[in-house]
Amino acid sequence: MCACRCGIRVHLRDGKPSYIEGNPEHPLNKGVICAKGASGLMKQNSPARLTRPLRRKAGAERGAGEFEPISWDEAFAMLEQRLARIRGTDPKKFALFTGRDQMQALTGLFARQFGTPNYAAHGGFCSVNMAAGMIYTIGGSFWEFGGPDLERAKLFVMLGTAEDHHSNPLKIAISKFKRDGGRFVSINPVRTGYSAIADEWIPIRPGTDGALLLALNQEIVAQGLFDREFVARYTNGGQLVITDAASPRHGLLATDEDADPVNPLYPQNQLWWDRHSNRAVATHTPGADPRLFGDYTLPDGTRVQPAFQLLAERLRAHTPEWAQEITGVPAATIRRLAHEMGITARDEKIELPIAWTDCWGNEHQTVTGNPVAFHAMRGLAAHSNGFHTVRSLGILMSLLGTIDRPGGFRHKPPFPRAIPPSAKTPTGPEGVQPDTPLAGLALGWPGSPEDLFVDDEGGPVRIDKGFSWEYPLSVHGLMHNVITNAWRGDPYRLDTLMIFMANMAWNSTMNTDQVRKMLNDRGADGEYRIPFLVVCDAFQSETVAFADLVLPDTTYLERHDVMSMLDRPISEFDGPVDSVRVPVVPPTGECKPFQEVLIELASRLKLPAFVNTNGARKYRDYPDFIVRHETEPGSGIGFLAGWRGADGSKSLLGEPNPDQWQRYAENNCVFKHELPPSYRYMRNWNRGYMEWAQRHRLRRWGDPILVHLYSEVLQKFRLAAQDKWPGRRPPAHLAKRVETHFDPLPFYSQPLEVQATDTQRYPLAAITQRPMAMYHSWDSQNAWLRQIHTHNYLFVNPRTAAAAGVADGAWMWVESPWGRVRCMSRHSEAVEPGTVWTWNAIGKSPGAWGLAPDANEFTRGFILNHVISDTLPGGTSNSDPVTGQAGWYDVRVRISPA
Ligand code: SF4
Repeated sequence: MCACRCGIRVHLRDGKPSYIEGNPEHPLNKGVICAKGASGLMKQNSPARLTRPLRRKAGAERGAGEFEPISWDEAFAMLEQRLARIRGTDPKKFALFTGRDQMQALTGLFARQFGTPNYAAHGGFCSVNMAAGMIYTIGGSFWEFGGPDLERAKLFVMLGTAEDHHSNPLKIAISKFKRDGGRFVSINPVRTGYSAIADEWIPIRPGTDGALLLALNQEIVAQGLFDREFVARYTNGGQLVITDAASPRHGLLATDEDADPVNPLYPQNQLWWDRHSNRAVATHTPGADPRLFGDYTLPDGTRVQPAFQLLAERLRAHTPEWAQEITGVPAATIRRLAHEMGITARDEKIELPIAWTDCWGNEHQTVTGNPVAFHAMRGLAAHSNGFHTVRSLGILMSLLGTIDRPGGFRHKPPFPRAIPPSAKTPTGPEGVQPDTPLAGLALGWPGSPEDLFVDDEGGPVRIDKGFSWEYPLSVHGLMHNVITNAWRGDPYRLDTLMIFMANMAWNSTMNTDQVRKMLNDRGADGEYRIPFLVVCDAFQSETVAFADLVLPDTTYLERHDVMSMLDRPISEFDGPVDSVRVPVVPPTGECKPFQEVLIELASRLKLPAFVNTNGARKYRDYPDFIVRHETEPGSGIGFLAGWRGADGSKSLLGEPNPDQWQRYAENNCVFKHELPPSYRYMRNWNRGYMEWAQRHRLRRWGDPILVHLYSEVLQKFRLAAQDKWPGRRPPAHLAKRVETHFDPLPFYSQPLEVQATDTQRYPLAAITQRPMAMYHSWDSQNAWLRQIHTHNYLFVNPRTAAAAGVADGAWMWVESPWGRVRCMSRHSEAVEPGTVWTWNAIGKSPGAWGLAPDANEFTRGFILNHVISDTLPGGTSNSDPVTGQAGWYDVRVRISPA
């Protein structure tokens, strides 16, 4: 029902769902179910369900919600004609943006085959900084792709995590961790949800976690509490960086040009300064041990320093006292926490009797663990300084020696991946051609300026300006820029925008009011500036009212779905896991799964991957597609990894199996592959795992993945900004921005919006999170869950409220430079005094969600997005300059009685 993807069992009475329970045999939730999961029946019966395709009535205004039913045949014919014209002329005029839909491998394939670069899911609005900051540092990230090993951790530190993100698996793990005597520290401006059961709550000012993490790193290094052996062997801390400012390779890693780079895309010929022989040697030379500190000269006269030395120098000024001023966390607390992390990692080491071999051929008899684990999410990410904050966290985890080790952070297959992963977008406008699939992926992982998706002048090719010099590493796209850019015609206008399961006219946008006006705005020719808007959803969200064409989706109980290794599987630390949904009831009314809509449209448009060589339709329907589609003809890789091969005897790789759905249904809808113990740890550098992963095509290469304490990738962009890179350069107006933010070492700067705000007038930070019972905002109209909350409050520390004269429970204004909204106050000690917060997406717009006109959601609820802006003074997007992450937790406000 949500992206946690717990297993459930649905009981039917008279053919209708009558009871939902957690599936005790499901590996993810082991029978545990949350309030939302248990309330799925009311989702099924929601009065907000869309049940027929609808067309906006002739003459009706967008937003008025005046529709007439049409048949699916008419809807498909309309779309086929329109999309065929766009594809045949300029495919980028069609954009497809989706919410947290769990089927991005299919939506992405559709977009690529259509030929449009304008595709992304909600990641740029959600937590791309968490994904990118971690993956560009350690080759993996949290949630689906890795997480804290609370089975063995002794100390668990959670930062910037909403009430229960992610849900049941982490609840189970934290519960056991605490019973086993583990210590749980939560760092968060707000103490609710998981933070409420933490042993220690460390309140922090929003957007300042980067400063705290730099100070923690500084303390760990200054006290000598880092894991020297881990840093030396498994990170690039010992690699030599060219420090001659005049060198065209300034800031890049020194290499032995005579040595075999092994993999030119990820060269393996860097150098260490060996402390035994006191000279430069190839990294991981047998018997060598790198200096981590110092200043050296190579035989050709090149000045170099170990990357760790540069990191230590960077950290030096970031003392606890420095961080205290920024974060509000006392310096003594920072020192104590760093010390606790350091000695727990050092003195409570775990040795598991598991033999393994590293990528350099060294045999180890045990796996070592340093039992300090972390979990972090959007609270760190949704700031315009979030990328470097998250990098600082990845570095802290690495200094403590906790990467893919017992009791620390552990990857989940298909991670770890190369830094950066090898998937790439096209690199210029020529990658977009009529009637042709896109010449690359719509979303990729740039490794240098040459990988950007820009035109000859350095301008963007994507409508959201993703992968341009404005947001070079926007690996999840910038959903929050789409409507504004299309409305402005900057960089160009769209013809058709298709939105799936994303409430972009309400809570899935930063500037709700403006977006609603833009969707309704017409040009001088009298036509809408965004000419055709298709909304596909199961529910009548606020965005539906603006659609020209509405396509009714099914609920999760009415369709097939896959949680695929090609997308976001439910893998565990010990091996790959994928899962499926099978429908328990037929679709309501004329609802059609969006997957079926895409298969139908792709077949009609004759997108190559969906038709045979003679142009005939290839797949009967979505279940047929899932079984028979292979990433390349004969690759043996499809959406599902289990029970492959003609007789279902193969796994991960194998020919399509016509009975695959049946086999999943017989096995709790889950396929699980357990790795042998020797492949379960140290996977960045584990030869056995790497060979296995290559054989099963989870990895293209078997090279070790060293942690990037120092990011050479970022330095390449910085060199381009400094006019020193032999290839592409940023446009002049962006050079300074790129030079500043593409620092190879983490740094702290105030979020861009805070820098541009008069914080005397607007002194408070305002943030949101979801309530536990509404884990995702999509489908949040649910009769049972409405009994828990039909409206939200603004939570204010009593001291702050008293100073503003706002009584508990009273009506109040919350006002930012961008606007104000009336809301109800709730005094709460569980929020630090400089922050106010509320739940997201409880407040709704009148007329939406099938609610009565006097529903509390309208009369008492509110959404904070009314006072947030997607644009900073001067017109630039309010996004992280590295990744394009929406900085929607950066707004500053003031409060007053209403
Ligand atoms: S966390 Fe999500 S998937 Fe799990 S039971 Fe709750 S709603 Fe369902």
